[in-house]
Amino acid sequence: MRGIFLTHSHMGHVSGLVHLGPESLNTNSLPLYATPKLHDWIESGPPWKNLLRNSHTLRKEIVPEQTIELTPEIRLKAICVPHRDEYAETLAFRIEGPHRCALYLPDIDSWKHLDPPIEDHVTAVDRAYLDGTFFDTNELPGRPISEVPHPTLCESMTEFDSLSLEHRSRIHFLHLNHTNPVLDPQSTESKTLREAGFKIAEDGEIFTL
Ligand SMILES: [Zn+2]
Ligand SMILES: [Zn+2]
Repeated sequence: MRGIFLTHSHMGHVSGLVHLGPESLNTNSLPLYATPKLHDWIESGPPWKNLLRNSHTLRKEIVPEQTIELTPEIRLKAICVPHRDEYAETLAFRIEGPHRCALYLPDIDSWKHLDPPIEDHVTAVDRAYLDGTFFDTNELPGRPISEVPHPTLCESMTEFDSLSLEHRSRIHFLHLNHTNPVLDPQSTESKTLREAGFKIAEDGEIFTL
């Protein structure tokens, strides 16, 4: 199966939809999965409203906490996570295949308000792609990081310190801001993260379920 799954409405997660139109990929009925609220927002005006109207996409609704059977062997469950929900909810995805299971959680304000705790989600999957936006709170000079809250990688390393090395190695951080020093594999910060057992996700990474 193929399709696009949207976690939430923020710029980096929806703006790429413009490439599905006639000027670029010109897709035909590509399944687009999102919550009803997010679909309504996308369909409410330019630049995306013609995608559905002109059958470039197919509206597929996700209801949080309900499991969707994507194929007889692949199931997906959306989990609501706390994140600046200006236009629609923010989701994480738990994707279960015949052999392995993955968690995709690119955006969250903090690990503190997740129930069950993030550690329970991580230990229940084989691979966890988690929010690694900022390394620490000094990355946005002249702008309070509280306006764009994310758990920093420093906080995440402390949070996951209690996990075993094997569990920590299941965590691949992604959604790295351009200011994040771990983007440079030679940086001290990148080495610190990897020496603690964590991984940094790569563009185009494939995980077989
Ligand atoms: Zn976001
Ligand atoms: Zn984001």
